Amino acid sequence: MDVGGAKYCRDCYLRLSRCSICGRPITGSYTNYPERGIRVCLDCEKTKPRCENCGLPVKALIKVGDANLCESCAARAPRCTSCGTAILRDYTYFEGNDSMKYCTGCVARYPACADCGAPSGIRAAKLDDGRYLCPICMESALFESSLVTPVKKTVLSFLNDNLGMTLVHQINYSMQGKDFLDAKTSGAHGDLNGLFYRKGDDYNIYILYGLRRQDLVWVLSHEIAHAWQAENTSGNLELEDLEGFAQWVAYNALKYFGYERFAATLTAGNTMYSKGLNKMLDLEKAGGAGAVFEYIRSK
Ligand SMILES: [Zn+2]
Ligand SMILES: [Zn+2]
Ligand SMILES: [Zn+2]
Ligand SMILES: [Zn+2]
Ligand SMILES: [Zn+2]
Repeated sequence: MDVGGAKYCRDCYLRLSRCSICGRPITGSYTNYPERGIRVCLDCEKTKPRCENCGLPVKALIKVGDANLCESCAARAPRCTSCGTAILRDYTYFEGNDSMKYCTGCVARYPACADCGAPSGIRAAKLDDGRYLCPICMESALFESSLVTPVKKTVLSFLNDNLGMTLVHQINYSMQGKDFLDAKTSGAHGDLNGLFYRKGDDYNIYILYGLRRQDLVWVLSHEIAHAWQAENTSGNLELEDLEGFAQWVAYNALKYFGYERFAATLTAGNTMYSKGLNKMLDLEKAGGAGAVFEYIRSK
């Protein structure tokens, strides 16, 4: 047998190792890629295209999104949660959950999901009030006012048992659209997903429909905290203290009900909500929950 100018008997020819790409016997130098268990002949090493991710030469590249990859990298590349395209470099994640990645294309193309902030995607649900929900949030979104009652009950007992917050007033709870909430606040400062609305002794809490259970825990505890403020504080609270305290109550409720990661997202950013919350957490760190109540009552 003649291989590259050298002559081999049949036995030696069969024992020659072969290039993993072209399959020809290797007689000269070659490159070993032990992590993939392959060896590549000099010719293939020089001429074959290379994977843009791992740099290995391959017989043929697989086009994934705008990248050309080897089979192994193509199979292992993380996928965009929304469109499924492989993500190599740039991606975004939301609510601190980096196991769900989104490609930059989807982030640019689709309106943000009103619940989780991720791109709502091609199968987004558009709600009557104009909000978009991604399919994942839509699956667990709550639309029936009756579903508020059990969550409200557990939140109220948590506030009573763990933070010593009791309310004298009966509160009416209902689910509403964004249009309704916007009309009620009429341009003034208002919370994102809910509203405590008071007319004298008539206490109301409006909550957006289409929220997830963790959003409901957040909004209910936040708005109930505002109701508690109406009964227990002067009404002269600075907005940052007003909202910071309500967020602190919600933060504690979220942690208590197992939404640790969601709670942590409330501390991030540079809004009066996060600044106020971090202020309350500092007070709590120094003097316990009692110090937070003392501060809020003293204002
Ligand atoms: Zn080869
Ligand atoms: Zn590769
Ligand atoms: Zn995508
Ligand atoms: Zn979502
Ligand atoms: Zn608020």
